[in-house]
Amino acid sequence: MFKITSEDNETGARTGQLHTAHGIAQTPFLMPVATKMTVKYLTQTELLNMGVESIISNSMILTMAPGVEHIKEMGGIHKFMNFNKCIFTDSGGFQMQSPKLFLSISDRGVHFRDPFSGKKTFLTPEAVMKNEIEIGADVAMCLDQMPHTTQGQEDWIQATKRTHAWAERCKSAHRLLEYNYGEKQMLFGIAQGGLDKKLRIKSAEFIEKLNFDGVAMGGLCLGESKEAMFKAVDYQVPVFNKEKARYLMGVGSPEDILEAVSKGVDCFDSIYPTQNARHCNILTSKGTIKIDRGKYAKDTKPLDENCDCEVCKTYSRAYLYHLIRMKEKSVLRHLSYHNVYFTQKLLQKIRVAIKENRFKEYKDEFLSSQTP
Ligand SMILES: [Zn+2]
Repeated sequence: MFKITSEDNETGARTGQLHTAHGIAQTPFLMPVATKMTVKYLTQTELLNMGVESIISNSMILTMAPGVEHIKEMGGIHKFMNFNKCIFTDSGGFQMQSPKLFLSISDRGVHFRDPFSGKKTFLTPEAVMKNEIEIGADVAMCLDQMPHTTQGQEDWIQATKRTHAWAERCKSAHRLLEYNYGEKQMLFGIAQGGLDKKLRIKSAEFIEKLNFDGVAMGGLCLGESKEAMFKAVDYQVPVFNKEKARYLMGVGSPEDILEAVSKGVDCFDSIYPTQNARHCNILTSKGTIKIDRGKYAKDTKPLDENCDCEVCKTYSRAYLYHLIRMKEKSVLRHLSYHNVYFTQKLLQKIRVAIKENRFKEYKDEFLSSQTP
């Protein structure tokens, strides 16, 4: 299911292939986020043209709208949204941090408020597994309880304990479902542990023992310091079986991706490129620029002179600035397109650099080119 294709000599970076029911996804990769079955402001064709081989949706949100039955009736998630590449579905662990959605939690499961109907929904690990297999994701994520990094030790212990119990339940429910449905779906376990060294290691060991198809590190990139986040990664990565794909959830930014890749992380998902685009923060080869600033009003250069995306080849900063001033929605598409393209190209360059054994050099070169 996961095959390492090359390893960097100097760092922990590696390239690999995640073999899924919908093609091979080259790792390391960054999944654009399609929570409601669309990457905001981009089309599926645009994603394919950029070389996106995997995206992530959210089974908890999809369960509420349009509903699992509806997606099944429409031929499953791939057919419904017409995206014939790998699709991950997250489970709802992250949504427990949302005061709008989250109601209560117990060992049995979690109560959410359905934002579409206003009704209460109860999700157990078993129900989440059933939903993810019926939606038809290539990779399902276990239901976990994600403690916030700003919460204390006691919350981390409690949430990690529950995550472990739920991981066991997810694993056995998933095995049975695969048998009953005659389907093969990958299931990734999620390790938690807050920012505590012992807890992070213990959690990685527990998840590793359950022998999932891949392993994820959750509950990070939530406002803690970079140092604390990468320490948690350092604690967990060595515990995981080298042959399994390692997924750092919710990361991100080009800098964070480069750092995590150097530590041996293979998969990422993040709203960073799309959300920043909507806030007019544009990723470029020379650092992030705020394209809504007056200084770009007569700037005839493209967003990034070193980018060969369709937006950079077609429009000037001045024109895009004008669209922002006029509140024209089309600009959100242009900016999202460039940012997602930029990050996808970055990951492509990372993969090439690892294969050519010059990842460290590429990383240093990229970081020094980014002026604040
Ligand atoms: Zn561009």
